Amino acid sequence: MTLSPFWVDLHLHTVLSPCGELEMGAPDIVEAYRRAGVALCAVTDHNAADNAPAVAAAAGGSPVALPGLEVQTAEDIHMVVIFPDNEAAADFQEWLWLRMPPVENRPEIFGDQLIIDKDNQILGEQEILLVQGAGYTADETAEEAMGRGAIVILAHLDRPSFSYEAVLGPVPDDFPCHAFELSPSVSHADFCQWRERYPDRVFIRSSDSHRLADISRARCTVMMMETPSFEEVRMALMGLNGRSVLCPWGGGIAAEKEKNGG
Ligand SMILES: [Zn+2]
Ligand SMILES: [Zn+2]
Repeated sequence: MTLSPFWVDLHLHTVLSPCGELEMGAPDIVEAYRRAGVALCAVTDHNAADNAPAVAAAAGGSPVALPGLEVQTAEDIHMVVIFPDNEAAADFQEWLWLRMPPVENRPEIFGDQLIIDKDNQILGEQEILLVQGAGYTADETAEEAMGRGAIVILAHLDRPSFSYEAVLGPVPDDFPCHAFELSPSVSHADFCQWRERYPDRVFIRSSDSHRLADISRARCTVMMMETPSFEEVRMALMGLNGRSVLCPWGGGIAAEKEKNGG
């Protein structure tokens, strides 16, 4: 087994997110990641995974594009969930939408919600507003996603809105998730405080890209893996089998605590 460093970005929006720029088409996103030298990305539109297949098809494995969603919980907390394949992501979305309020999008206010194919052909438009809280709590969402074998990440924990901390305060020790995401703008000094408050958690940096210029290594995380894949990322986040997350803010390897060894 040879482990190598791979750049990974586990949070990204496409033209399906009303807040995502119209330039966030499938081939455009792929081109930006190739140029940045990022090996793996997760396509995580708000409450929906409909454009993940388009990005994966446009990428053809370079970069590896995993399907995911940025769930907005009933408390308005953002949580990134990532799945190994499109079917698993679509199944989860179906579960999530059992409690999606039937509020319609108003493109002139919130922006377009376009479903595209790998060549940016528009397949349709999502009519239900994606930037609203689905009906499940953070606990319910995390438990359901974990139970389905997803990678679960609390999004932009440092932000004053739509983050777990901002809404509910400190994250309990037993809250089920693989990592805490911090914004690329977090300073080293601020990161040290996060580390001190949550010594047993794994921290990652993700781009949360809404426009192509957001896509760069400076907003990503390096993981030591055999290949860029869902299972390797999952192992890196859990510190399994030698895989690890290199702390984007330096000062030690987040997954130095290897849980199961080997
Ligand atoms: Zn968010
Ligand atoms: Zn986001």
